[in-house]
Amino acid sequence: MNPSSRSLFVTTALPYANGNFHIGHIMEYIQADTWVRFQRMQGHKVHFVCADDAHGAPIMIAAEKAGITPQQFVANIAAGRKPYLDGFHIAFDNWHSTDGPENHQLAQDIYRGLKANGLITTKTIEQFFDPEKQMFLPDRFIKGTCPKCGAKDQYGDSCESCGAVYAPTELKDPYSALSGATPVMKSSEHHFFALSDPRCAQFLQEWTHTPGRLQPEVLNKIKEWFAKDEQGNGGLGDWDISRDAPYFGIEIPDAPGKYFYVWLDAPIGYLASLKNYFDTGKARANGELRSYDEFMADPATEQYHFIGKDITYFHTLFWPATLHFSGRKTPNAVFVHGFLTVNNGEKMSKSRGTGLDPLKYLSLGMNPEWLRYYIAAKLNGKNEDIDFNPADFMARVNADLVGKFINIASRSWGFISKRFGGQLGDPGAEGQALLEALAAQASTIAQCYDSRDTARALREVMLLADKVNAYVDLHKPWELANPKNHDKYLEQGLSIDSVNERLQAVCTTSLQAFRLLTLYLKPVLPALATQVEAFLNVAPLVFADAAKLLPAGHTIGTYEHLMRRVDTPQIDKLFEPPALVAQAVSATEAGKPTATQSDEPGPSASACPGGEAIAPTISIDDFAKVDLRIAKIVACERVEGSTKLLRLTLDVGETDDTGQPTTRNVFSGIASVYTPEQLVGQLTVMVANLAPRKMKFGLSEGMVLAASHANEKAQPGIHVLTPWPGATPGMRIH
Ligand SMILES: [Zn+2]
Repeated sequence: MNPSSRSLFVTTALPYANGNFHIGHIMEYIQADTWVRFQRMQGHKVHFVCADDAHGAPIMIAAEKAGITPQQFVANIAAGRKPYLDGFHIAFDNWHSTDGPENHQLAQDIYRGLKANGLITTKTIEQFFDPEKQMFLPDRFIKGTCPKCGAKDQYGDSCESCGAVYAPTELKDPYSALSGATPVMKSSEHHFFALSDPRCAQFLQEWTHTPGRLQPEVLNKIKEWFAKDEQGNGGLGDWDISRDAPYFGIEIPDAPGKYFYVWLDAPIGYLASLKNYFDTGKARANGELRSYDEFMADPATEQYHFIGKDITYFHTLFWPATLHFSGRKTPNAVFVHGFLTVNNGEKMSKSRGTGLDPLKYLSLGMNPEWLRYYIAAKLNGKNEDIDFNPADFMARVNADLVGKFINIASRSWGFISKRFGGQLGDPGAEGQALLEALAAQASTIAQCYDSRDTARALREVMLLADKVNAYVDLHKPWELANPKNHDKYLEQGLSIDSVNERLQAVCTTSLQAFRLLTLYLKPVLPALATQVEAFLNVAPLVFADAAKLLPAGHTIGTYEHLMRRVDTPQIDKLFEPPALVAQAVSATEAGKPTATQSDEPGPSASACPGGEAIAPTISIDDFAKVDLRIAKIVACERVEGSTKLLRLTLDVGETDDTGQPTTRNVFSGIASVYTPEQLVGQLTVMVANLAPRKMKFGLSEGMVLAASHANEKAQPGIHVLTPWPGATPGMRIH
């Protein structure tokens, strides 16, 4: 092993397992994946893991609503992760769940460590309790009348009508959003992590101020959280880490009916996923021969977390303190990024479709490395928001990535292949100087990657690409290769051999330069780099390879088309607002004569399509009353005691007041024709505003659309509707 080789443990934030990935997740994973690939290209050993954040009240309640266990609910979400990760070349070494046995064990061990250190206290607090559901209600599950303006149905913490902020206890006529029951005040003993203990404050001051630990802008924010006013108020408060049953989480040792608050066990999931990766032999398969305990006990092991700015408090205060005071290694650094906005900061909304849906992006056949490149070109390692701008995206991909970089290979490979049997020659003095200038930038570019300033890394690479293109433009290999110019060269006193030699030198220089630029872009464009390595017939590129060129006589492989340009229709489709999609559909429908508009008298075969006559004409207003939405079947199961019904869990793009996706429970009489496996993950159409119906097996909150012949015996079969590709959950059908 390389003696300067480091051993790194890297994570991204754990996604909450109540919905699919959105573009914000993908951005973070691309940032971390790029950094991990770069470190590996430096010869370092990296273990890169993540997991689903499975616990907490929102998942417990969503699962109950869907009629499945929280474990099933989380498993269904987890099953949908792979297409996103594979699709964008995000290569975690392990994906686990915070509900795994490793996390239960680790969380309880860590708690015991904190307790042994005298940092766990208890206090009795009063909270709203739902007497029907027999559970304490989080703020977001209490509703009532605003105490300030009198608006009805406001949430427990703030009024959407007048903007007032208040405590749930101030609400007039409070009721439980879960059962509708009037909540009662009930006291309960809660467990706290005593962050106000002077030991914690002292440790965290030291930890956060250690150079390299945090970005300067992040440290400035943290200083505000440490600050106390003149009366000594403010500063770090104790952290309530317990919740009462029923709760989907990890039981607190020796405290029956008490569970860890999800935010206590979620980051411990980093360690749990790593432990699972070691214990299942995957680490060994990746050449890591130590055990999890040996790896974590090694002072040389480095630990890094990539996170979004919204969870800074948890990761820079709670998390290091939790680790330190339970006798564990603390992170070497926490890397914080800002949010991704789309179209000049327009707020992303899944239901309105103005966002950038990662799966839609892939389904349109858009190259995942365009997005990797674009995101890398925007991220500079600072805690700043970035914007996805479609015009900018097209410009960077088409002008820079394809126009400047890919173009270098496509301009020169043909001559080497056809004229010189695929063999590289000598780059010549001028070519050699250019290549040395390119190679000399390796350490600067590496430094940019290391500090996550990929924006600058890519700027540097594009400046080098400009130099290479200027060199090619100057030497015009296409003119050197053109027999029509032979007389001209002969007049200049050049032999055909020397012209050919120059052609080989120019094209050799181009391809050597292309190899160096590919190396520099490889952390961002791993799939393209693999293609180029095959084309150039070289071993997988690492950063040390920048120091040496391919020898004269090296034979290149076959050039395969590397990358095409983004086209406008693709971008238009990606951002097509749902209203436009709907209008397009309406226009088609309007052009089609319906049976009732037909002049044909009397019933005929065409008047009884599908075995039944077309229903009486309705107005467009009547139709508008029916709210049809695209729904994703996120879960599906058979209903015990019924041969006809399937229970579907549908995502129609709805969210609760905290922005967490919510789902609907719908029973559908399609069990005779579909298995749950066939339906999970599919898109369909549902009536979203049908009054909920209480059924023997539970509440049905809508209806899924399916086609069938009126006479089931004459023409059996039920056919669930699916939209064309591009439709996303929540889009309305007009
Ligand atoms: Zn109000």
